Amino acid sequence: QEKLEQGVEKSRDGLLNKIGKSIAGKNTVDAETLDDLEDALISSDVGVKTTIEIIDRIEARVARDKFITQNELQQILREEIADLLKENRPEQPAEFDADFQHKPHVVMVVGVNGVGKTTTIGKLAHLYKNAGKLVVLGAADTFRAAAVDQLTIWGERAGVPIVQQGQNADPAAVAFDTVAAAKSRGADVALVDTAGRLHNKKSLMEELGKIKRVMGKVTDGAPHEILLVLDASTGQNAMQQAKAFTEVVDVTGLVLTKLDGTAKGGIVIGISNELSVPVKYIGVGEKIEDLQIFDRVAFVNALFG
Ligand code: GDP
Repeated sequence: QEKLEQGVEKSRDGLLNKIGKSIAGKNTVDAETLDDLEDALISSDVGVKTTIEIIDRIEARVARDKFITQNELQQILREEIADLLKENRPEQPAEFDADFQHKPHVVMVVGVNGVGKTTTIGKLAHLYKNAGKLVVLGAADTFRAAAVDQLTIWGERAGVPIVQQGQNADPAAVAFDTVAAAKSRGADVALVDTAGRLHNKKSLMEELGKIKRVMGKVTDGAPHEILLVLDASTGQNAMQQAKAFTEVVDVTGLVLTKLDGTAKGGIVIGISNELSVPVKYIGVGEKIEDLQIFDRVAFVNALFG
C-alpha cells in the first residue's frame, strides 16, 4: 500500500541507511558487521532485548550458511524480523467485517494524553462503520476539559453517536452507560475512551479497574479488547509507557500512532516482542482514514522497500 510506504518512509530510510552503513565495504558477515548491525537496530529504536534476539538469530544463520553476501544479509534480516513479528500476530488480519463474538464488542482505549488516543478512536469508528458495523462511542475521559469535546467532533466526523456526561462526570458511570446504550441499540461495537494520567500508577489502576468492572456488569466478558495507544515517534518513551500500562491493565493490543514523519518505526518491531502484545493498528496521518490494520508482511515490505 502506497500510504503505508509513505507512512514508514522515514523509518525505512533511517533503518536502511544505518544497515547499509553497517555492512558497507564488507564481503562477508563477521563479528564487526554484526556489532555494527546491532548498533543500527538499537539506534532505530528496535529496543535492546529484541535487537539481541535478532542478532542471535542472524548469528545462527551465518554459522550455518557460512558465506553470506550483503544482499543476503539484508534478506535474512527481513525474514527474521517478519518471523519475530509473527510470534505475536500469527494470523494475518482477516477481512474487517469478520463476525464479532460479542454484541456489543466492547473496546476500552487507554493511553496517555497527546499520543493520539481520541484521533485513533475517531479513525476506528470510521473503520468499523465502513465495514457496516453499528458503533457507539463513550467519553469516559472526563478529566480533561477538551477530551469530551474532541471525541464529540470525531463522532460527528465518523457519523456515530456518542455517550457523554460532560467533564468531571464519573468515568465508570459513563462507561456503564455507553455499554448499556450500545446493548439496547443493538450496536456491534462500543469504543470507550479513558483518561490516561500516568503520574500515579495506583490511581490509574483503580480508575481503569473500576471502568473495566462496570462494563463487565452490563455485558459478558466486557471489555473484550483493551487497546493501548502509543506515539511511535517517541521511541523508547513509548516503550516505557507500554510497560507501565501493561502492569496496571491487561492490554490486548497496541496501536502505534504517528508512524508517518518519524524515523523511529523500529519501535513497531521491538515493542510487541518485548511485551508479548500484538500491534493491531498503526496510525499514518491525521485524517480519519489514516489508520491501518497492522499487517506484518506489508509492514516489513514497506520497511525494506
Ligand atoms: P490524545 O490526547 O491522546 O487524545 O491525542 P489526540 O487524538 O488529540 O492527538 C494529538 C495530536 O496528534 C493531534 O494533533 C493529532 O492530529 C495527532 N495525531 C494523532 N494520530 C496521528 C498520526 O497517526 N499521525 C500524525 N501525523 N498525527 C497524529
